[in-house]
Amino acid sequence: MKKITYLILACFIVLDLQAQIQGSKFEQLEQLLPTPNNFRTADGSPGHEYWQQRADYKINVSLDDSKQWIKGSETITYYNNSPNELRYLWLQLDQNMFAKESNTYRTNTFDLESDTRSLMGWVAGVNSIHGFKISNVVDAKGKPLNYVENFTMMRVDLPEPLKKGQKFTFSLDWNFYVIDAEKMGGRSGYEFFPEDGNYLYEIAQWFPRMCVYSDVYGWQHKQFLGRGEFALVFGNYEVNIDVPADHVVAATGELQNPQEVLTPTQIQRLEQAKNAKAPVLIITPEEALKNEKSKATNRKMWRYKAENVRDFAWASSRKFIWDAFQVPNGSKKVWAMSYYPKEGNPLWGEKSTWVVAHTLNVYSKYTFEYPYPVAISVHGPVFGMEYPMICFNGGRPIPLPAKANSEEVEKNKQANERTKYAMVSVIIHEVGHNYFPMIVNSDERQWSWMDEGLNSFLQYRAEQELPDAPWTKDLQRNPYPSRRGPAANIVSYMKSAPDTQVPIMTNSEQLKQFGNNAYGKPATALNILRETIMGKELFDFAFKQYANKWKFKHPEPADFFRTMEDASGVDLDWFWRGWFYTVDYYEPSLEAVTLFKILGKGQSLPSSSVFPTKELKIETAIKRMEEIGLKMTEAEKRMLAPDRFFYVLKIKNNGELVMPVIVEINYKDGTKQIERFPAEIWRMNHKEIAKLIVTEKEVSSFRLDPNLETADIETNNNTFPRSASSSNFEQMKSGQ
Ligand SMILES: [Zn+2]
Repeated sequence: MKKITYLILACFIVLDLQAQIQGSKFEQLEQLLPTPNNFRTADGSPGHEYWQQRADYKINVSLDDSKQWIKGSETITYYNNSPNELRYLWLQLDQNMFAKESNTYRTNTFDLESDTRSLMGWVAGVNSIHGFKISNVVDAKGKPLNYVENFTMMRVDLPEPLKKGQKFTFSLDWNFYVIDAEKMGGRSGYEFFPEDGNYLYEIAQWFPRMCVYSDVYGWQHKQFLGRGEFALVFGNYEVNIDVPADHVVAATGELQNPQEVLTPTQIQRLEQAKNAKAPVLIITPEEALKNEKSKATNRKMWRYKAENVRDFAWASSRKFIWDAFQVPNGSKKVWAMSYYPKEGNPLWGEKSTWVVAHTLNVYSKYTFEYPYPVAISVHGPVFGMEYPMICFNGGRPIPLPAKANSEEVEKNKQANERTKYAMVSVIIHEVGHNYFPMIVNSDERQWSWMDEGLNSFLQYRAEQELPDAPWTKDLQRNPYPSRRGPAANIVSYMKSAPDTQVPIMTNSEQLKQFGNNAYGKPATALNILRETIMGKELFDFAFKQYANKWKFKHPEPADFFRTMEDASGVDLDWFWRGWFYTVDYYEPSLEAVTLFKILGKGQSLPSSSVFPTKELKIETAIKRMEEIGLKMTEAEKRMLAPDRFFYVLKIKNNGELVMPVIVEINYKDGTKQIERFPAEIWRMNHKEIAKLIVTEKEVSSFRLDPNLETADIETNNNTFPRSASSSNFEQMKSGQ
């Protein structure tokens, strides 16, 4: 009996505690964030004992164009900067995702009733010839090392423990068949052009890469299933790429032997491009066309070096047109370059390198000087994928079919308009990834939003800040039709069924509605912080602090949350909680407005008001003040004068998210004014509040969130009186 009572009591206490935690939208985040320590501090900075590992790579790789096959060998020098002793190392074998019956295929679920497209994945998996073939894993003296492959991961056992401050050098060989990127998807692969019989290769995740070992996760070796991207360590690369002699290679880093692989004309054009005001063709379309037909049998070795990068990618084809110029960035100049086949023109020749240059410009303004010597945009089969200094982008003009009728001409025109915007946006996005996560090196396998969300936010800035220039003449500006960023664009996602959503703070593989969750919602959240909650000045400073503190390091979510607060002096715990840890939405409704009037001698309540009107009796309040010796001055008394209008707005929140309350006051004389109240207005009761607004002129209507800043999911209940028309509001909504 007693036991039962205690149990019931205990249950009540637990329930009560939960209710308290869940009930308060403004509790601090302590329960949710990791405890600060000497590696990561309470202000969101790297601590005085912060450490990270490093891996240097020397790689020789050879591309067999006749069977789309790659063979390579690498020597890795791994530096243990951690305070811990390591007995084994973990490497990533990403190509194994495409191996016969990989766990990606084995864990794919789909119903043929509704999805026949996924059948292609099954076909690809069953028949796959892909995946790494690993051999010759040896230490620096050539002595074989014990190793175990675990699907997309590989453990190399160390002959003796690697202590703090020590390094270990080892080598391995591998080969694999490059995937058909169009058929199998993925982030790299080849495209075959049947018209001229050539291949275009975009090569990434192509060598066994070191996993991250950190103070947060130990070894980050969560299997690669295809969605959660990569966690990688910084290091220096020397890569020798052996390809057919008529291929042109684009790669991470700087070319070390231009005189061996480029023609004197190309070298001279590059020299010219250093001081050019517009991109210069290094390989012209005519030269590329000639190249397409050559089919060389001899080979050339392209030697590249890259310093302090977390990865290395490259592209190779005899189809490449190449343009480039140098653009100023902070204290130095950076190469902006593009490589594309003729199929990408005219779009690519007109825009790509300009977009690269513009992206560096805007992103550096919000973060830091671009630290690398080059930024490259390559056009091929991969629609959008980022690597250090190089990215792969889609956006291919659709040729007009022969003998097209006027309807087909119009359709083609519209399709190519869409292609143009998709191409500009994807290049901004992928070049932008240089900043997040290539430099601010977050763990993509764990948190997609840390790079995609931050990057999509800056992508929005770059889209909205397109210059007035010849290359933007055919682009809509002010505003550019951005897909992600404006609050109103996230509403349909925010109001989608809760069981189709998960919080942003969810591991990448488990995300539902991936694009909205990892890109759209965090980008919008940051945009709302900047435009509505913190203001540009406080936000930009804090964001810059985060970028600079964590460049060339490995930040975690708490480091971002804490830095944004610490540097701005704005308590954002309620915001992180609502937007990042829940799937709640905001739905304020203006339920009622009452007008209170102080009546002067002989006055009666006005009958003209559109709002219910009541008398505001203040005599007793004034009297009480006087009784305790508080005398109101004449000026203070005038504030409580009969000619003022005291409106009390009853606002309900039909959602669980709290946000600022923004009220548009429309006066009878046709003028209007906006009052903004911080989200803390909801701190005592997040479901219902009453707010006093005092005016000197009579009001005809009030409206919540007139500029659609808060991602309110239902705006039909924002106006009072309900009947008040709002032509400009409707226009705005339909314009979104
Ligand atoms: Zn991205």
